[in-house]
Amino acid sequence: MITLSLAEIAEIVGGQSHDIPDPAVTVTGPVVIDSREVAPGSLFAAFAGERVDGHDYARRAVEAGAAAVLAARPVGVPAIVVDDVVGALGALARAAVERLGTTVVALTGSAGKTSTKDLIAQLLQRKGPTVWTPGSLNNEIGLPLTALTATPETEHLVLEMGARGIGHIRYLTELTPPRIGLVLNVGSAHLGEFGSREAIAQAKGEMVEGLPEDGCAVLNADDPLVRAMASRTKARVLLFGEAPEADVRGEKVRMTPDGRPAFELHTPTGCSDVTMRLYGEHHVSNALAAAAVAHELGMSVTEIAEALSEAGTLSRWRMEVTERPDGVTVVNDAYNANPESMRAALRALAAMGQARGADGGRTWAVLGQMAELGDASLAEHDAVGRLAVRLNVSKLVAVGGREASWLQLGASNEGSWGEESVHVSDAQAAVDLLRSELRPGDVVLVKASRSVGLEKVAQALLENS
Ligand code: ATP
Ligand code: MG
Repeated sequence: MITLSLAEIAEIVGGQSHDIPDPAVTVTGPVVIDSREVAPGSLFAAFAGERVDGHDYARRAVEAGAAAVLAARPVGVPAIVVDDVVGALGALARAAVERLGTTVVALTGSAGKTSTKDLIAQLLQRKGPTVWTPGSLNNEIGLPLTALTATPETEHLVLEMGARGIGHIRYLTELTPPRIGLVLNVGSAHLGEFGSREAIAQAKGEMVEGLPEDGCAVLNADDPLVRAMASRTKARVLLFGEAPEADVRGEKVRMTPDGRPAFELHTPTGCSDVTMRLYGEHHVSNALAAAAVAHELGMSVTEIAEALSEAGTLSRWRMEVTERPDGVTVVNDAYNANPESMRAALRALAAMGQARGADGGRTWAVLGQMAELGDASLAEHDAVGRLAVRLNVSKLVAVGGREASWLQLGASNEGSWGEESVHVSDAQAAVDLLRSELRPGDVVLVKASRSVGLEKVAQALLENS
């Protein structure tokens, strides 16, 4: 981060200094919320969580070298005391980003934020020093913490923003005002909380409302609800997608025999071929979105195509493909799931199975609950079960409670499936079943919402193999 004195920080956050012998002492970073991550010159932000109260760790943080603590009450060691620690962290991030003058790229959407953010980071790094959200730290705490890691050398700051309700994205964009605001898609993630897709669009569209006139709204030409957001911004609009009107466009989109997207990338600077290293057709849209951002920041079509073709995964448990020595392939996509991403992952599984040809092994979909779907839950689980049958997946292992039974029911009804689909109660039961059944050449997809923790299945299958 930029160096700030404790006096400057107290002024920025509107806090009271307590037990600070020398207000000229500087914070050189990082700003942390876990006392174990404190380094000399850190600022330790203390939060009162449900189980742990950061204030109890204030002394330890200072002993480990923290210059001071940002806290909600005096803690007996140097502290800047504020009413609202989350708000203060945001104010600090806002001031730091403003002083740095870094180009902020912000993105949101129902599915693919982290994948796209990682692609954008890999593209922009070729142009200049880039800082990006680690993993999915996309809320009112993770976003400031990420922004505060930017330094005077940082040219681009790429920030994932998550929307849990109306006003949330607006709050985040006001902390770190983007010059480029990207909206990927409006799907049914968090449908339960929002009530309707229109409400989700309302919330995500806040991304483009605050953009400056000389900024750029990067919008998905293939998603009507996203495209309609063009009317909510005064910034220039750049469309990406497969639609003919898209400024940054994918043409001749196809999958390689083993399930990786390949396409012709068209930007206003020309056209170049891309063959991705990442698996799954959903990455076409993510790659076109990332290409649009890179184009806006001055990269040529050849540079972008090369970078997209070389890009790998930066965040774990997203379509991580590992082949075991015995020839079983495990696809760990257990980070999260919603109806759109379930369908994308199932199609990728089917493509991988087809690429192996008739003599190849079987395809296994080990699936768990998609959370937070509200009233749509039964129908969505049923539809995923049916899709597994239609895609000729060899076996469905539905893991968990009621929702898993809906997955299995969908499959049974669609294809008169009997033994092809099984319902097991938990991850361990799935592991036991798979350990006894898997044969060389088989491909296993593991996927469910975060709360299910299905990565345990993928990890167990990769241990001692
Ligand atoms: P979160 O809200 O949990 O942070 P996210 O929006 O960051 O999620 P990712 O982590 O990139 O999304 O991907 C989540 C899941 O969605 C993965 O399983 C991935 O395979 C799938 N996915 C990624 N991109 C898309 C897309 N464009 N459309 C549909 N599904 C996608
Ligand atoms: Mg994410």
